[in-house]
Order: sequence, then structure tokens, then C-alpha cells
Amino acid sequence: MARVSDLLAAGRTYSFEFFPPKTDGAQLSLGRTIAELEPLAPSFVSVTYGAGGTTRARTREVVTWVRRETSITPMAHLTCQGHTRAEIAEILAAYRAAGIENILALGGDPPANPADARPSEYTYASELLEDVVKEGCFSVGVAAHPELHPRSPDRETDRRYLAAKLNRADFAITQFFFEVEHYLRLVDELAALGCDKPVVPGIMPVTNVSQVQRMAQLSGAAFPTWLADRLHAVADDPDEVRRIGVDAATKLCADLLDAGAPGLHFYTLNRSTATREIYASLGLTVSPGAPSAGRA
Ligand code: FAD
Repeated sequence: MARVSDLLAAGRTYSFEFFPPKTDGAQLSLGRTIAELEPLAPSFVSVTYGAGGTTRARTREVVTWVRRETSITPMAHLTCQGHTRAEIAEILAAYRAAGIENILALGGDPPANPADARPSEYTYASELLEDVVKEGCFSVGVAAHPELHPRSPDRETDRRYLAAKLNRADFAITQFFFEVEHYLRLVDELAALGCDKPVVPGIMPVTNVSQVQRMAQLSGAAFPTWLADRLHAVADDPDEVRRIGVDAATKLCADLLDAGAPGLHFYTLNRSTATREIYASLGLTVSPGAPSAGRA
């Protein structure tokens, strides 16, 4: 077990994100994916939190399973909208008791249907962050949005709240994006606000065009025309779509590493193949997370 802040201080981190499975079949499939990715020796893996409520308990189950049954360091995502302070205190106490040391403190989104809203004593991630920091035993990350959070009124406001939040946390992980310039600009803007905490870029390899386009729309990430055109030209050939998606993600990762990014965080969508292919193409030959980790 390790704290993500210590791993980042020791060298580049390479991490994978999963979502909690909803069915027994999906659970088996996630178990297989984790087994396939474990030989890559990820620095840590993270498990998302179902803000809507359906998979809340499952996050805890998966995170504690990873802690118990594998050699990988887990990080639990936790969103605060729709939670009371007592509920958050109980979740943090359970993580502490289970030996979980890493939390990604998030705002979450209000439910699409206001009738589904739960009582909430939180509005912003920064409020949850304060509660997690107060516990004194967690390494805490926050979310960053290179192309701005969709609810931010303007760039300056987005960056101001982000810098204040990140300065209280240990590190940030970004929403996915497809062009390195978005990341570089984010890091420069944070530096101009006096924030130099590690910002780990989030990577989403495109293996299914319509799925990623939908997710990009929701997250505010621009799906660039050059990539969309290449993918649409081969839309009938899933293998070719995957190959182009993996190539584009590999190039983005290489550019980010060349630019000095402190790590890479892969949105795996609970599958291992694209991540393994990118790893191989990048020539990641030594155990990631180790101080000497790097490209061949
Ligand atoms: P916040 O930091 O609260 O920001 C949200 C908006 O509020 C921004 O526009 C910000 O500028 C603004 N804001 C912040 N503070 C203030 C303030 N004091 N006053 C006024 N405005 C303010 N969602 C899930 O449901 N489950 C997950 O597991 C999950 N994992 C994620 C992992 C990563 C790496 C990322 C990037 C996102 C993830 N999300 C997840 C999505 C996230 O919950 C949403 O993007 C959510 O809308 C915002 O979360 P945040 O933590 O950035 O919120």
C-alpha cells in the first residue's frame, strides 16, 4: 500500500480507472481486466463513485477487494453532492478502518431529475476536500478540467476555484482531452495562480466513436475534427477504429511525457486491451511507479 502523493514525489505514476460493476457478469469481467493489468504494475488504480446512489456501496467493495486481494494500491473516488456530513464521516471511517489511504474528492453532479435529489450538505468538491484533509490520514486528489468545467461561467473563474482547491489537495487528475495543448495551458494557468501541485492527465483511448463522443459532450471535452474524421472514415471496421484510437492516445501520451507530465491516468472503461497496447507502444519497460520508471 502507498500514498499517491508519495508515489508522485518518487517519480511518474501510471494509473488505471475502473467503474464499479453492476452485475455479477460485469464483476467477473472486471476481475479479469484487473488480473490482465496487474502485470503492468500500475502505481495505483482508482474506482469511480456512483453519484446517483446505485453503485455507492460497490465502490467501497471494489476498492477494499483490490486492497485485500491484489498487490495494487487503490484509490476511492468520492463525490459529495447528495451526501450529509454524517454519511461522509461514516464512509471515511470505513475506508480508514480498511487501510485505504487515497481518496479522490469530487463534487459530483446533481441528478438529471430533481425529484431524485438526496439531502445534501455539500455543494462543491472543496467542502468535501476539507473534511477529508481534516481526517489527517488520506492522500487526497481532486478533479481538474482542462477545457473548463461545463458549469464554470468563464475561464478565469474556473481556474481560480481550481487553484484554490488544488492548493489544499495533494494532486489533481484531469478530465480526458485529446490535444496536448489543453493540458499545457491548464498547467501554465495554474502556475500563474501560484499552484504547482502535480496535475496528472487523464487519457481516454477511443475504441467506440459514439460512446466517446457522448462522454466528451457531457464532460465539455472537444472531440477534434481531425480525429472524428479519421474515425468516421472507418466506422464500419471496429478493429480499424480501435487501431486509430490507440494510435492517437499513444501520440498524446508521448507528447505529455515529453512535456514533463507527472504521470498518466487511463480511463479503462473496465477493459485492458487498449491500455496494454498503449503501454507497449510507449515502451514502458520498467515497473511503473518505481522511482526509475520511464520510457525505454
Ligand atoms: P467542483 O470542484 O465542485 O467544481 C464544479 C463547478 O463548481 C466548477 O465549475 C467550479 O468552478 C465551480 N466551483 C467550485 N467551487 C466553487 C465555489 N466555492 N463557488 C462557486 N463555484 C464553485 N463523477 C462521479 O459522479 N463519480 C466519479 O467517480 C467521478 N470521477 C471523476 C474523476 C475525474 C478525474 C474527473 C475529472 C471527474 C470525475 N467525475 C466523477 C465527474 C465530476 O464529479 C463532475 O465533473 C462534477 O460536475 C464536478 O466535479 P468537481 O470535483 O470538479 O467539482
